[in-house]
Amino acid sequence: MSDHVVIAGGGLGASRLAEALRGNDFPGAITILAAEDHPPYDRPPLSKSVLLGDDDRVDLKPADYYADNDIDLRLGTRVTGVDPARGRVVLSGADAPAELEYGTLVLATGLRPRPFPGAGGDLPGVHVIRTSDDAAALRAELDGARRAVVIGAGFIGCETSASLTKRGLRVTLVEPAPAPLAAALGPAVAPFVTRLHTEAGVDVRAATSVARILGEGRATGVELDDGTVVDADLVVVGIGGRPDLDYLAGSGIELADPATGGGIACDESGRTSAPHVYAIGDAANWADERGARRRVEHWNHTVDQAVIAAAEIGGHPRPAPTVPYFWTDQYDLKVQLLGSPRPDDTVHVVDDDGRKFLAYYSRDGVLTGVVGAGRVGRLMKTRPHLLTPTPVADLLT
Ligand SMILES: Cc1cc2nc3c(=O)[nH]c(=O)nc-3n(C[C@H](O)[C@H](O)[C@H](O)COP(=O)(O)OP(=O)(O)OC[C@H]3O[C@@H](n4cnc5c(N)ncnc54)[C@H](O)[C@@H]3O)c2cc1C
Repeated sequence: MSDHVVIAGGGLGASRLAEALRGNDFPGAITILAAEDHPPYDRPPLSKSVLLGDDDRVDLKPADYYADNDIDLRLGTRVTGVDPARGRVVLSGADAPAELEYGTLVLATGLRPRPFPGAGGDLPGVHVIRTSDDAAALRAELDGARRAVVIGAGFIGCETSASLTKRGLRVTLVEPAPAPLAAALGPAVAPFVTRLHTEAGVDVRAATSVARILGEGRATGVELDDGTVVDADLVVVGIGGRPDLDYLAGSGIELADPATGGGIACDESGRTSAPHVYAIGDAANWADERGARRRVEHWNHTVDQAVIAAAEIGGHPRPAPTVPYFWTDQYDLKVQLLGSPRPDDTVHVVDDDGRKFLAYYSRDGVLTGVVGAGRVGRLMKTRPHLLTPTPVADLLT
């Protein structure tokens, strides 16, 4: 069998997988097939430093890294089909051969943002933020704008609200859940995040939906589900994304049940149902050691999966387990979550100065997670307690 590793993607997962393979002295050929025209870049800055005007695009590696490490990076090349029986991918793109043979294929194709489902979603002045081109298009409109509506208070919507507020816009943040980040942090902790936004001057409309985006020729505001009209010079839609897996049609590669997050069904090392085909990152839905499935859209999760899949492909031992970690920057505070708490876990707030906070989550008396804002050192010190079952009482005393 060929030792050619082909990676469909060109984002964080693709770059880190190639880096981990070469770091493990993988001797075979590595090809990255990347749909975008930019070399792999980091997405977290898009809603933060890029919108603030501090960065343009933060590439994951220096320009010559790929050639120096014998990694064939093909930009503007989209995988349009996979044929596991013949070990080939089908490509689009000007210079691409129609097919490319692989020994191992890794799918790292990320997400496509969900468009606004109601009327007005396609008007000029309506933005999403997934790519550096998206962020550049939004940033180009900020100087002339005074008011913005952000639809969806997940982490990208919250970060965008913070960045636009820092840029001097008046922001209305609309969220159908009872509070921003309620799904990720649970109902007891989410109000701490709401507080950050309201104190910064954001008009947070929780438990409210946008019925339609208004405007003729350009977005001029939104109509909420109670009929209220909110005027805006631009609208940002941050209502999540979904893996764009049309290219797997007919491949026989199993997709995960949407109830578990959908995406590409994988075992606990990233193997899909097709031989020699792996999936990592936002598009992948890995099983844990008990067989429970979850699709996670976090930076560290993608990096951990890239390292595990690279070890598997190269025949190396599985890396030591890590603690799930996620961060989001809101205003001047880093909000961090360690572990995998559920929204209905018991919450123990151990520090709250009116802005910064630290809280533990527990289930049946055992620590399941730690969340903090502006408490980086104290939060990180709890990491070992999440690697082995620890009674939350040990930390509370
Ligand atoms: C604005 C923003 C802010 C974020 N902030 C945070 C944060 O603060 N903290 C955090 O933990 N996480 C954050 N994330 C999430 C993090 O960036 C993702 O988890 C990570 O990028 C996932 O990596 P990936 O390789 O799976 O997908 P991506 O990085 O999205 O890369 C996928 C690439 O595959 C390409 N592609 C798609 N289909 C094909 C195809 N058929 N053929 C070839 N190429 C294809 C896409 O064009 C894309 O370039 C943020 C994400 C965004 C968008």
